[in-house]
Amino acid sequence: MEPLFRPNLGLALNPELASELAPLLPETHALDNRPLDAALDVMESATQGGLAFVAVSTWKSLDEADRERLRAHQSWQLLLVADQFDPQALEFMASGVFLTLITCPLDRAKIARALQQAEEVSSMYQDIFLMAREISLERELLARKNEQLAFLNQVLTKASQTLDPAVILSNSAEDLGLLLDVRAVLGVFWGTTEGQTEAEIFLPENLPQLHQEEWINHLLSVAARLGGDYVRGYQVTFVEPAKGIAGTAPELEQIITQPLSAGDNLFGALVICSNEASALGQDRLRILTSATNHLALAMRNSLEFRKTKARADHDGLTRISNRHHFDMRLREEMKRHQRHQDELSLMMIDLDYFKSVNDTYGHQAGDMVLREVGRILQKTLRESDFPARYGGEEFVVILPQTREEQAWILAERLRAVIGQTVFRIQRKRFRVTASIGIAGVKPGALAKPESLISKADQALYVAKASGRNMVCCSAIEEASVAH
Ligand code: GH3
Ligand code: MG
Ligand code: MG
Repeated sequence: MEPLFRPNLGLALNPELASELAPLLPETHALDNRPLDAALDVMESATQGGLAFVAVSTWKSLDEADRERLRAHQSWQLLLVADQFDPQALEFMASGVFLTLITCPLDRAKIARALQQAEEVSSMYQDIFLMAREISLERELLARKNEQLAFLNQVLTKASQTLDPAVILSNSAEDLGLLLDVRAVLGVFWGTTEGQTEAEIFLPENLPQLHQEEWINHLLSVAARLGGDYVRGYQVTFVEPAKGIAGTAPELEQIITQPLSAGDNLFGALVICSNEASALGQDRLRILTSATNHLALAMRNSLEFRKTKARADHDGLTRISNRHHFDMRLREEMKRHQRHQDELSLMMIDLDYFKSVNDTYGHQAGDMVLREVGRILQKTLRESDFPARYGGEEFVVILPQTREEQAWILAERLRAVIGQTVFRIQRKRFRVTASIGIAGVKPGALAKPESLISKADQALYVAKASGRNMVCCSAIEEASVAH
């Protein structure tokens, strides 16, 4: 039992009192009577506490500093022994320093009562101490849980603020940085188009050229391993620069690969480069997994959104932009044109006698021609040009920063390529020609999208009226005619 070993100090008791007290203690207790400094040394070294008998006469003789030194040992219980009648004894008791007062003459019963009281109080303190420790542990745990929740909340909130997968990914690098030392976050997502697995890879834009291919191969192997199919094609999207990735190849990085799934569908993986990858405890790994689950949903939504948007913006037959997308883009481009005071041209293309293509070769042949013209537009034009199917067999092209003369050269090239293309259907061969109208806005000129379209349309009408298979400009009067 622990109380057996609790020291029983006599604090500078006078010899008579000490010898009166010592035999009254139970056998398990032994009185260790010492002068003040020696007693304080014992209290100092026995930090787990003990009992000290203090005579009223001794306490009275101590100055405030010495009393304070005794009081400072809070794990010690001080028992006041009234060795003389003194009204101040009650005052000392009232100060709260002493556990109990033992009056003289001393006897076994009084001492036993005092010792029992001391023991009860001490075990009560022990309980309170244990309880307090438990409470503080719980509180710490709760604080940690709170922190984790706040972290997950931040990841989720940020991820759901945008529908751009690249932004979600670069934000996630920042957010996950609160949990572990993240050098970079890369991503790979896969899906099937026309029966083939294709991947989209997200890389930080400051990844050294030297290692880009190695990372791409690494991500493709992750996609193949997790997706369970060979990846036929892929495209790379660059996201904001990673803070830590520099000059390293995948095999030199510590990597955490987190699969991303929505429901049963495993559709991607995050590859997190972190110097702490191997030292991540169970706790942090669990939070990281929670965070990536949130990210997976946000990522899934953004990828779906992008797909739906692409479908809404594109024409089903030719796969180029549709009229709605063109209208929006033209408005944007005209605003930009006004801001930057540069040139802008618009091309309107209409296939000649297209009705007769349908009538002669069938509707399917007509469709094939429209698809091919869409392909020609994409192939022949520049990256900055924006082709769209305006409706039926009519196409439009927005040409930013392009003067009418330059637009005309481009239109001529288009007209030539279309006119030279030979279509084959059921062993029959035929060609189609196109008429093109061009309108341009000069820098600083104020024009509405509708008036630009109507000018291009008028130019197209002139081309048609002048014999078709030609390019007409709304400003330039001369027309180019095929010979
Ligand atoms: P023009 O030289 O005056 O432009 O003569 P055109 O025959 O091309 O002009 P018109 O406007 O009379 O006919 C357009 C034809 O385009 C009618 C329509 O059947 C055909 N067409 C419109 N959309 C499609 C389509 O999606 N697929 C097919 N196959 N034909 C289409
Ligand atoms: Mg037409
Ligand atoms: Mg036509």
